[in-house]
Amino acid sequence: MWAQSSFKGIATTGILYIVPTPIGNLEDMTVRAVKILQEVDLIAAEDTRVTRKLCNYFNIDTPVSSYHEHNKIISGNKLISMLLEGKNIAIVSDAGTPGISDPGYEIVRDAVNEQIHVVSLPGCNAAITALSASGLPTDNFIFFGFLSRNKKDKRIELESLKTAKQTIILYESPHRLKETLSLMCEIFGNRRVTLARELTKIYEEYIRGTISEAIEYLAKESIKGEFCLIIEGNTSEEPHEDYWWEVLTVIEHVKHYQDKEQLSNKDAIKKVAMDRDIPKREVYSEYHGL
Ligand code: SAM
Repeated sequence: MWAQSSFKGIATTGILYIVPTPIGNLEDMTVRAVKILQEVDLIAAEDTRVTRKLCNYFNIDTPVSSYHEHNKIISGNKLISMLLEGKNIAIVSDAGTPGISDPGYEIVRDAVNEQIHVVSLPGCNAAITALSASGLPTDNFIFFGFLSRNKKDKRIELESLKTAKQTIILYESPHRLKETLSLMCEIFGNRRVTLARELTKIYEEYIRGTISEAIEYLAKESIKGEFCLIIEGNTSEEPHEDYWWEVLTVIEHVKHYQDKEQLSNKDAIKKVAMDRDIPKREVYSEYHGL
């Protein structure tokens, strides 16, 4: 176990900063994100071209190196060595929060294992932006990220989400959106859904309705842009089957009502018969040893 005090004392190694970047609107870059990107020794970027453009816009001249899905082991090891030598590094992805359906998790895990301080800046994220304006419950939710591309695996994943009561958040590519919605309608039933498209950009759109209404709406136009799907959780009331008494004998079950609920013999027997869905005389006979 180790405790990180992010702003007290002096870190003996460098600090790894997780810096979110805009998901479409450059004005969503925070003042702190710009400052950290200016101050660190290196920016580790998912795509150096995308990040250099961002840096140019905000007058950031920090060196940028590449850290992405296909070089994360080699690049990650180098970054950890630099952090151990005392260099401060910021990790960024193309858009939104690194590590959230983007590269980032492994470098954070390795940094934590080395007791390197990891400081996360709050900021842009498509999932939370979409959820908060969806009109669907926000108190409990499941972020699933991308479903599998393979249809069979996608079906298994949706089946596993079917009984969840929480609002579900998914990322989906425009090419697979119709197929995913149809499969979802088949497995979940026709629940409420919000499709958040092109968030923070000029063509931002929220499509709110049932899954079948969304399919109908999308049939009328070509599906373009980035989408985040917010799906209502399972609202069906399952029958409450509480067989707590199953471990008790009939006699113990009757005594339970007598002791715990101070019921008379007659009422306790009646309740046990109801719980077990058996005739009262059967409980009576067993209780009295007849
Ligand atoms: N790390 C990012 C974040 O924090 O939101 C997510 C990166 S993931 C590779 C990209 C997916 O996020 C897109 O395919 C889309 O589903 C969703 N997304 C990103 N930007 C979006 C936007 N402006 N509007 C709607 N969805 C967006």
